[in-house]
Amino acid sequence: MRTLIYNVKLVEADGITENGAILLQDGKIEYVSRDGAVILPAVDESIDGEGKYLSAGFIDIHVHGGGGHDFMDATEEAFVGAMAAHMKHGTTSIVPTTLTAEDEELREVFATARRVKSSASAESLPELLGLHLEGPYVEPSMAGAQDPKYIKVPSDGSWRGIVEAAQGDLLIWTVAPELDGADELADALRDSGIIFSAGHSAAKYDDVCRAIDAGYTMATHLYSSMSTIIRENGYRVPGLLEASLLHDEICPEVIADGLHLPPSLLKLIYKTKGKDRMVLVTDAMRGAGMPDGEYLLGSLSKGQKVYVFDGIAHMPDGISFAGSVATADRLVRVMTRQAGVPLTDAVAMLTVNPAREIGASDRKGKLEAGYDADVVLFDDDITISGVWCRGKRTV
Ligand SMILES: [Zn+2]
Repeated sequence: MRTLIYNVKLVEADGITENGAILLQDGKIEYVSRDGAVILPAVDESIDGEGKYLSAGFIDIHVHGGGGHDFMDATEEAFVGAMAAHMKHGTTSIVPTTLTAEDEELREVFATARRVKSSASAESLPELLGLHLEGPYVEPSMAGAQDPKYIKVPSDGSWRGIVEAAQGDLLIWTVAPELDGADELADALRDSGIIFSAGHSAAKYDDVCRAIDAGYTMATHLYSSMSTIIRENGYRVPGLLEASLLHDEICPEVIADGLHLPPSLLKLIYKTKGKDRMVLVTDAMRGAGMPDGEYLLGSLSKGQKVYVFDGIAHMPDGISFAGSVATADRLVRVMTRQAGVPLTDAVAMLTVNPAREIGASDRKGKLEAGYDADVVLFDDDITISGVWCRGKRTV
């Protein structure tokens, strides 16, 4: 199957090309035309992009659910439902994210992820690139929406069993790097390909420097559930927030739903980190793509009740947030409209940047021949009108 999409504005990290075209074949990008005047071979299907934008598909590396489902439900139906809900909004690659939970619950999620990856429905869904474990090694005072009942410390050694049970699907691990045994954990897995992200953490500046030496390359949802400046005997001590902004080694996740962080902070992160060193994530829970109402955060059996209204999920205390209900298209909309970031940069933060951070930049995140044919078509309002996952039109 050879598909041509023509009459599109190609959105790439280095600019927007008018009157572009792209040829998809056998799940890969075969050819990208940037001058509008190329003779193309015979195609099976030819689609007029009507002058809309076409970019690489969005990669969401921190997402708990959507469409009424949470990945912690650990059923194929939940995985497929949540992935399909995000796909409608431009996500073509996904890293389902777990909550702090009992080992047994995590094992069920791992087993379900393996079944979904090898199921027949996988080819009509965003690609499941691996799993993001948020916890259970987090700092209790920074738990946020993580259930404190299941929090552990790495020095108990339980991580060995988790890594084994994940059977190579563990892609990102959010850990509070100041915890007892966290350095050993990162050291032991240094060559495993697992990306360590500092988060739900009360780390002081020196702890973060040590974590960077131990191989941490990301910070989980910058500003949320992380330490900032404290004063010790009058002296100011920076925290994970300042260390993440300062150190180029750290590429932070940013929940750009427009509610977790006001436009001023989105602008500050962009100004400090630059277009290449930040990744947009939804951190969406099961209420994403659903009407307002009461939802469970976490699994159906053990989840906590949360309330979705005004475009965000609230904890019952009414003070903290319980994750977002954002989808990838909304992140691009917020970054361009509210934070004043160019479209090319906002798209890079959901394509090139996450692909690089998770080690998938050889096949994801760019419009280039030989890359996976994951592309999205959208208009000036970032309303998605077409999605191709590995060459197959799915929206
Ligand atoms: Zn999360």
